[in-house]
Amino acid sequence: MEQIEQLETICKRYDCQLLRNEPLSKHTTFRIGGCCTAFIDVNCVDVLLELLNYCNDNNLKWTVLGNGSNVLVSDEGYDGVVFSLGKQFANIEFLDDCKIRCDAGVYLMTVAKSVLEESLSGMECLAGIPGTVGGALYMNAGAYGGEMADVVISAEYIDEDGKLKTVLKEDMDLSYRHSMFSGTKRIITGLTLQLRNGKYDAIKTEMDGYLNQRRAKQPLELPSAGSTFKRPVGSYASFLIDQCGLKGASVGDAQVSVKHAGFVVNTGKATCKDVLELCEFVIETVEEKTGYKLELEPVLLK
Ligand SMILES: Cc1cc2nc3c(=O)[nH]c(=O)nc-3n(C[C@H](O)[C@H](O)[C@H](O)COP(=O)(O)OP(=O)(O)OC[C@H]3O[C@@H](n4cnc5c(N)ncnc54)[C@H](O)[C@@H]3O)c2cc1C
Repeated sequence: MEQIEQLETICKRYDCQLLRNEPLSKHTTFRIGGCCTAFIDVNCVDVLLELLNYCNDNNLKWTVLGNGSNVLVSDEGYDGVVFSLGKQFANIEFLDDCKIRCDAGVYLMTVAKSVLEESLSGMECLAGIPGTVGGALYMNAGAYGGEMADVVISAEYIDEDGKLKTVLKEDMDLSYRHSMFSGTKRIITGLTLQLRNGKYDAIKTEMDGYLNQRRAKQPLELPSAGSTFKRPVGSYASFLIDQCGLKGASVGDAQVSVKHAGFVVNTGKATCKDVLELCEFVIETVEEKTGYKLELEPVLLK
């Protein structure tokens, strides 16, 4: 395909890697999904801008991936280009006044550990979320009473017209699992976070406490995309699913976790179709028995 060859030429100039027909199951925590046409491990903003412009000018479909911990990829794969902002978008810089600036591909855990070393507080409850800061801001990820909105103060991003911009937190439209980036073609490239001075031991104890709670309550030993359903107003998805006796329900190798009813896990070779069929069954049963209509949390990529 001539267009992919053109992308390869751009990638070579910037020394970044393009993989053809790459299985996306290798890049998602659900370990599910067919191949994409091209998978590019982007290593700087300049190459991202050039590749994006090429894709847009040539009507090539594209998307961006962080750690793939909140996506469900179709079994047919993705007929387009996937930009991975992971390993190479991973710089953290310490600024004045307890602020840090990080590239969008830095893992939340890496940020949490780095700021702990400087006795900075603010990342304790977010540490165990297995995503990048870019992916976390995209959907205002949160846990244990905290969310990205509590720490972010600004973000750099590429807008729909391929222009680099900066946006302040108050203009990010942040709410429960939502931001101005959700469902758009804007790409977050970096974030500035505001932390607070704290005491190393207290920060570590709090962080370890949350990590231990995750290990005790979540099925971390099996592939998943975390909580499969958004929290409905007035209740909790896991509580409702459990109440309906759906723990352990399965379609193929997709199963409602027996450890945590809010997680659908991949117990072996689950397909996207299995997961969607199971989710549909869960949504219908919960609505019928409780009146609550659950919604999927992971982003569907097809
Ligand atoms: C075991 C487990 C536990 C989890 N626990 C939690 C939890 O407690 N709280 C919670 O909120 N989530 C949780 N999650 C879900 C997930 O980790 C978060 O949503 C995380 O923020 C996703 O980040 P990511 O880098 O993996 O994004 P990805 O899954 O790679 O992408 C998710 C979406 O964000 C977009 N995106 C990614 N990076 C960018 C970028 N730089 N610019 C623009 N768009 C981008 C993608 O296009 C996609 O639409 C959990 C997942 C797992 C597997």
